[in-house]
Amino acid sequence: MSSLPSTMKAVSFAQIGGPDVLQYTESQPLPKLQDGEILVRNNFAGVNYIDTYFRSGLYPASYPLIPGQEAAGTVAKIQGNNPLGFKEGDRVVWIKQGGYAEYTAVPADRAIKIPQGVSDEDAVGGFLMGMTALSLIKEAYPVKKGETILVHAAAGGMGLLLCQLLSDMGCTVIGTAGGPEKCALAKENGATHVIDYKATGGPTWVEQVLKLTNGEGVDCTYDGVGKDTYEGSMEVAKRKSKVVYFGNASGAIPPINIARLTAKNLSIMRSTLMGYITTRPELEYYANSVLDLIKAGKLKIKIHKVYPLSEAKQAHIDLEGRKTTGKLLLKC
Ligand code: NDP
Repeated sequence: MSSLPSTMKAVSFAQIGGPDVLQYTESQPLPKLQDGEILVRNNFAGVNYIDTYFRSGLYPASYPLIPGQEAAGTVAKIQGNNPLGFKEGDRVVWIKQGGYAEYTAVPADRAIKIPQGVSDEDAVGGFLMGMTALSLIKEAYPVKKGETILVHAAAGGMGLLLCQLLSDMGCTVIGTAGGPEKCALAKENGATHVIDYKATGGPTWVEQVLKLTNGEGVDCTYDGVGKDTYEGSMEVAKRKSKVVYFGNASGAIPPINIARLTAKNLSIMRSTLMGYITTRPELEYYANSVLDLIKAGKLKIKIHKVYPLSEAKQAHIDLEGRKTTGKLLLKC
């Protein structure tokens, strides 16, 4: 084992707030390993919208917190029995907490070996989001070939993956996105129709979706935008269909009166990836499915930008400012 430093680069916050609360340091003590954990020398960490929810206080946490739910890198140390057979030097991608750092102590059962032929950037770029996209279309609402599906923020990290997967399944994909460039990108990634929901002066996005579906509505909507779109998502739902809410990019959805579902026998749900990858077999199923799709070239990972770890704050500003498309990474 090569000798490990005693301190590392990391980004953390001690109080909730805007991007300014993110503090970069080069003197963070290395995490101490518990039994069953591996120490990963992170190469790239993924930036996810959930990192901003912890930072803003929308989601509770203990502080100080090193944010970051995922990273790809190499195993630097192993503690305990090691039933999964990791070796120092193995390339892994993991999901937990603490990715905005050079090193993270990760429960071994939350790490997956990266297959040869898949880069660290693609592995982490498609990991949490790819697993989420697959869980949405396989479990939250099991999509069937030929259905018409609405995807909000279709040029975002989640949106581009959903567009690709749904169009490969033979669905009609209606995307919404803010601005002509984002609309074009969503189309390149498989959306059949894209509506610029920021455009003013013409019909609303709800009217446009209804027109595209001859007034019937869509079979399912995947809504990660939340507050600004949740009402419209119910309006464009077909009779007996489902709306899957999975995020709060524009803010949290207020309580919904269940009586609103009656008119169309509508189902709604709020899904989270973690509830689909709780067990090791579940994680392996989704993780290996995503990595296989990437390796086969069937899922393309669009990296918006790789930011130095010291610029995590800028990454949050850009993501929350709706300035990005695809996935944001930090170089650790
Ligand atoms: P995106 O790359 O999609 O960025 C968010 C996008 O949302 C923006 O680019 C913007 O696109 C759109 N948006 C609409 N209104 C706003 C607003 N008021 N403020 C900011 N953005 C807005 O992010 P991610 O791909 O990282 O995440 C998308 C959603 O998926 C998030 O809600 C996230 O929490 C959720 N998610 C949920 C998971 C789960 O397990 N439930 C797992 C992973 C992600 P435009 O300009 O086109 O409107």
